[in-house]
Amino acid sequence: MSENNCDFDLVIVGAGFAGMYMLHRARGLGLKAKVFEAGSGVGGTWYWNRYPGARCDVESMQYSYQFSPELEQEWEWSERYSPQPEILNYANHVADRFDLRADIQFDTSVERAIFDEGSSCWNLTTSDGETCSARYCVMATGCLSSTNLPDFEGLDSFKGDKYHTGQWPHEGVDFTGKRVAVIGTGSSAIQSIPHIAEQAEHLTVFQRTPNYTIPAHNRAMDQAYAAKVKAEYPAMRARAKTMPPGMDITPNMQPALEATAEERQAQYEAKWAEGGIPFMGAFGDLMLNDEANNTAAAFVRGKIRETVEDPAIAELLSPDNVIGCKRLCVDSDYYDTYNRPDVTLVDIANDPIERLTPDGLVVKGEAYEVDAIVFATGFDAMTGTLLRIDIRGLGGRTLKEKWEEGPKSYLGLSMAGFPNMFTVTGPGSPSVLTNMLPSIEQHVDWIADCLAYCQENGHKQINSSQQAEDDWVSHVSESADLSLRSTCSSWYVGANIPGKPRVFMPYLGGFPMYVERCNDIAANGYKGFALS
Ligand code: FAD
Ligand code: NAP
Repeated sequence: MSENNCDFDLVIVGAGFAGMYMLHRARGLGLKAKVFEAGSGVGGTWYWNRYPGARCDVESMQYSYQFSPELEQEWEWSERYSPQPEILNYANHVADRFDLRADIQFDTSVERAIFDEGSSCWNLTTSDGETCSARYCVMATGCLSSTNLPDFEGLDSFKGDKYHTGQWPHEGVDFTGKRVAVIGTGSSAIQSIPHIAEQAEHLTVFQRTPNYTIPAHNRAMDQAYAAKVKAEYPAMRARAKTMPPGMDITPNMQPALEATAEERQAQYEAKWAEGGIPFMGAFGDLMLNDEANNTAAAFVRGKIRETVEDPAIAELLSPDNVIGCKRLCVDSDYYDTYNRPDVTLVDIANDPIERLTPDGLVVKGEAYEVDAIVFATGFDAMTGTLLRIDIRGLGGRTLKEKWEEGPKSYLGLSMAGFPNMFTVTGPGSPSVLTNMLPSIEQHVDWIADCLAYCQENGHKQINSSQQAEDDWVSHVSESADLSLRSTCSSWYVGANIPGKPRVFMPYLGGFPMYVERCNDIAANGYKGFALS
């Protein structure tokens, strides 16, 4: 890199899939780069979320890096949706294969990042009290990396064991003989509940909002299929990039209401049998038309009634909102679990958990005594992790001030007033609405190309213009209004965190349209950015 008065050309915060690949690309550009990671190892999400049953819900052959054909060919996934330990092994393999650890400092959080206008360096302070400076700063801090532990009254008084799915003990947990409570029924809960029920003496699930979940039909990897994918990997990856969720799927574009009731039933049955997220590709208008959406929702409610023996429990488990509005869940034996005599469902939709006591939880004056509580209560998604860092840009303005009314960014990659700082899959990018691995790689490649451009052209500073950011924020908001996805109280809109501004945070325009925009901006001399 050209002459630099900072300690590093680039500091990367986070060593999940985003930070790891960013380091790899930075080295390729000859940059002096360093990664800080709060955890003791690589893998991010897959390092922290070690709860029983944790696995990906994008097929493993697609939920994997594509930047290295050799890596693609040599790695073998054992299941259709691989379990967390295997995904973590994969992350470790990548770290070893590309010798990444040498430039990663583990067990170190970045607590402060302050832009110095005189030197054009970011000055960083870490949890060990050290400081360093960098010309560029890439926040690879993750969309789902700050756990949400609701502030229940009496939280600290509970004498038993407390676990959050997103900070699960490395040594695992044995629930044998224990009375266990799970709070929450999102993806993490839905994956873990069948496993906890298998072990526990009794499991009580506290449900505020039921979720739709589609069976994973997980199975051992079909070796012939894996070989076929590997033989045609570039073509499959290319097809995936043409689809809004960045996955190689074949949605049916026919509107649901143009099909007869019998055709719809057959189509939903076929998609249910296929399993997983592609269920929402049963018809082309499910996220656009309420009535169409309700045909899919009614089908799933029918499946719940068929599966759950007690009609009252089936009713409680049946959502009445738009399917796919909250993140669709993917499960193995979730609804069946409620047929077990040792599993109880407690509806807290209208009567929230009153308090925790030394012995358990109280709802509607009734005490539930338990030995352990599992908080499957999710994350302060997309903005929480960034806002926990004291980030100050031009004029000393904090990110907290800038984002007071909700996140604002250009492309989810850059924030006006915060020069030389980039976010990977930040709010305003498709991120959590897509297969995250290709989205991460696209962002990292774009950032790497941008850094190379600045290097070649002698630019010391790059900053998105206020106008470009405002236009992008309006576009993100208009795109959200076109879809039913923005119509419910989900974490996509910050509804799970008391006091968080209600803004639909990810970009709903889909992966291909987004990539085209990013590429166009780069091809036109980083249109919308001020370079100096
Ligand atoms: P992360 O993996 O979250 O890594 C961010 C890292 O930054 C963390 O290690 C964190 O410790 C570190 N960090 C944060 N702040 C600091 C700081 N201040 N200082 C130092 N380090 C810091 N996506 C899919 O596409 N398909 C799936 O099937 C899927 N399954 C998921 C399952 C679970 C349980 C969860 C929670 C998410 C899932 N996701 C899935 C989304 C998943 O988060 C992404 O796919 C991907 O792993 C994100 O990688 P990342 O590197 O961007 O962020
Ligand atoms: P989540 O979807 O936000 O679910 C949190 C659950 O906790 C919800 O049921 C929520 O109820 C409940 N809850 C939160 N606060 C509560 C309170 N004060 N009282 C009672 N209940 C409360 O979180 P998650 O399950 O961890 O999943 C987050 C995201 O991570 C997913 O959407 C997905 O993107 C990803 N993920 C993916 C997988 C996978 O299958 N690969 C697995 C896990 C996670 P409300 O709905 O009423 O708010």
